[in-house]
Amino acid sequence: MNMKNFPQTIKKIQEGLKKKDFTASELANSYLEAIKEENEKIFAFLNITEDLALSQAKAVDESIAKGEDLPLLAGVPCAIKDNMLVEGVKCTSASRILENYVAPYDATVVKKLKDRKAVILGKTNMDEFAMGSSTENSAYGVTRNPRDLERVPGGSSGGSAAAVASGQAVFALGSDTGGSIRQPAFCCGIAGLKPTYGSVSRYGLMAYASSLDQIGPLANNVEDARIVFEAISGRDPLDSTSCELKPFLETQGKKFTVGVPKEYFIKGIDPEIEKIVKGKIEQYLALGHKIEEISLPHTEYALACYYIIATSEASANLARFDGIRYGYSSKEAKSLLEIYMQSRAEGFGAEVRRRVMLGTYVLSAGYYDAYYLRAQKVRALIKQDFDKAFEKVDAIFTPTSPSLAFKIGERTQDPLQMYLSDIFTVSVNLAGVPAISVPCGKIGDLPVGLQVIGKPFEEATLFAIAKDLEDQI
Ligand code: GLN
Repeated sequence: MNMKNFPQTIKKIQEGLKKKDFTASELANSYLEAIKEENEKIFAFLNITEDLALSQAKAVDESIAKGEDLPLLAGVPCAIKDNMLVEGVKCTSASRILENYVAPYDATVVKKLKDRKAVILGKTNMDEFAMGSSTENSAYGVTRNPRDLERVPGGSSGGSAAAVASGQAVFALGSDTGGSIRQPAFCCGIAGLKPTYGSVSRYGLMAYASSLDQIGPLANNVEDARIVFEAISGRDPLDSTSCELKPFLETQGKKFTVGVPKEYFIKGIDPEIEKIVKGKIEQYLALGHKIEEISLPHTEYALACYYIIATSEASANLARFDGIRYGYSSKEAKSLLEIYMQSRAEGFGAEVRRRVMLGTYVLSAGYYDAYYLRAQKVRALIKQDFDKAFEKVDAIFTPTSPSLAFKIGERTQDPLQMYLSDIFTVSVNLAGVPAISVPCGKIGDLPVGLQVIGKPFEEATLFAIAKDLEDQI
């Protein structure tokens, strides 16, 4: 927790700064102290950018002293997943292969945060190259779940989620290719948004699977997630997939129709989770909204489809790490081929190697049609399921994950078991639609998450619904 009980929401921080209740430097120092205290235990941060944070905070204080207008994020302490570039700061994607890589420029999202005078505290731990669901695939150590230190914080943005949930940052950025913002947000009991594909620039994000990756916010409440989303989204000429966004429609007082897909309440889901999620849906109904049962019939193929497409794209994206252009280079190698092979064998962890091999295999001659092309066709069907559902409903409710945050080590020996954590989140990336995970209850000390899926570019609806759900907790 930040030491001196400073406010922990963006708007309250702004009010406090304006009223001069505290300075941005005091706030930054308090968070930096909290990180130093907690990091040994939780290990949310790979790298603490103390000098950067303090100089940014000082600039905010100077601007207040001059009576200048403050952007909403001014002085707000935040954390960045270690696959996004912050100029002059080490950026490793939690991989050995990038152990000493220093970012030569700012990712667009980072630039936008800097323009709005946010204070960057450090870079957060993650699964290597964002491949994983538990943050155990980091080359630098495991992040622990602040709600239960024996358990994983989820992944791959586990460091970002743990930092926010334990009061070591007001918000954090994560990336989500198949669930990596929503699943850790649920494990740690906070809000996490995977925006519509194309709404946030990925310039300066280390690519995992380019047709699925999106950057989004993790925050302690829905309003903060919304403020951060508004700050980082929009067209960027440096990412040709990014779009100009229309202003949010007014949602105040609107009654929504929400679909509940029968394919998401199946055998294998923890019955306690099912009970809590269904209870929450009942409460939502009681607010005067409508609930309808819907069908997303191709859900059962989503996980297989995702792991073919994601690994194919990853094998292409990770080809650039060759021991020559970036990072780690094997000292033992005696020929060019050996440099490639040994640098990658020594620099990448086991899960990354597994995925590169899988992806290379499914793209190879003779298998391309059978796997990759077929998966692309299935992807189109999954997208159609959502298009059809959204003809009838404004949003969709599902559990975020079928099981609670699991024990450290519990799934590391069984990749399929690990991949099952993403069963309810991957379809959203395949369809390119937005989704937010919000806490909806607890089993013991462990949070349960509800996922709200929306129509493309209608994040406003998601925020409105998520806010209503949050207010009922
Ligand atoms: N857990 C999924 C995977 O391992 C999703 C990761 C992500 O969204 N980056 O691929």
